[in-house]
Amino acid sequence: MRKECNDKIRFKDLRVACPWLPDRKMFDSYIDRIFTSGQLTNNGPILQEFSDELRKFLNVKYVVPVANGTLALQVAYSILGINKKIITTPFSFVASTSSMAWQGIKPVFSDIDKYSLCLDPDKIVKNICIDTQAILPVHVYGNICDVEKIESIANKHKLKLIYDASHSFDIYHNGQNILSYGDISTISFHATKLFHTIEGGAIVANNEEDYSKIMQAINFGYEEGIIKSLGINAKMNEFQAAMGLCLLKEYPAIKERRKKIYDLFRNYFDRLEHITLPSFKAQNYSYFPIIFRSPDNLKRTVTRLERINIFPRRYFYPPLNRLPYIENGNLCEVAADISERILCMPMHHDILESDIQEMSRIVEGEQ
Ligand SMILES: *Cc1c(COP(=O)(O)O)cnc(C)c1O
Repeated sequence: MRKECNDKIRFKDLRVACPWLPDRKMFDSYIDRIFTSGQLTNNGPILQEFSDELRKFLNVKYVVPVANGTLALQVAYSILGINKKIITTPFSFVASTSSMAWQGIKPVFSDIDKYSLCLDPDKIVKNICIDTQAILPVHVYGNICDVEKIESIANKHKLKLIYDASHSFDIYHNGQNILSYGDISTISFHATKLFHTIEGGAIVANNEEDYSKIMQAINFGYEEGIIKSLGINAKMNEFQAAMGLCLLKEYPAIKERRKKIYDLFRNYFDRLEHITLPSFKAQNYSYFPIIFRSPDNLKRTVTRLERINIFPRRYFYPPLNRLPYIENGNLCEVAADISERILCMPMHHDILESDIQEMSRIVEGEQ
């Protein structure tokens, strides 16, 4: 097969993610259609086809593809009328918090569970106050939050529930796609994610009312040519949708390839004594995080890996309650500790067994 991302420079540059590129002929056939139709964006035929295919693939009621995963979150807050405070996790990618700050919403940080690395449901309630309007948990690395407990808290306290499911493509819980949980779930289709549309994302809604609000909101508030509400521009374009259609078709191959590589990783890393691997309730083979005994072990390992041009990433560091534009609020001890010691290894379709062996050797040697 193709997919040699770093073909010539192979061992010189191994990054944490490597975007999958589809079969060129298939992609070109969509590009030809765009050149023939002349329609580049504004809910064109290829986007409509992608929306349909995506809804079928995900098996959810309503899904709206958008320009990126950050806008997906911002649109979700806006159509649910959230403008004060949201309880969220400090252990995530910056966008789950920056999207709130950008909307003038105050994030209130609640600590994570040290096993799942997702919001600890037992710590949420004490952070609820009069201005709390919603909870935003993140299914970190595609793992699954305690959706049952969190939902009952949200119901009891009449809070909206929005899941940042950016990492959760193809994740199921009790036979249901994880994206169908909460009032709304959002996902990112950024190039570095498991499934991508170059830049992109989607909003999953569970009722028709929210769906039509989202459709208006992403297109300046227009409905049938009339401005009905305050909106923004979050539209996905035809080229992004073309990439999405290609990768949906190739997804079974992507998954198979990643599973093989993930299994090899487990093979080499399971036996290492000085690190631990988080244990997940679900797995889509998109990240390979390892937890060191101490921040020093982590830093020394990173130095040694970088010396041979292997670039792991400190996902997620720092914890989001320490962002420079965030008021110092709750201390979240578990998140603070984990984020100092966790490292995501380069894991994607283009990694060789010899790379994995080399990485495990270095990780083991540095304890
Ligand atoms: C990637 C990501 C986002 C943002 O998605 P973009 O498409 O890059 O805007 C939001 N939240 C989490 C947890 C992410 O990993």
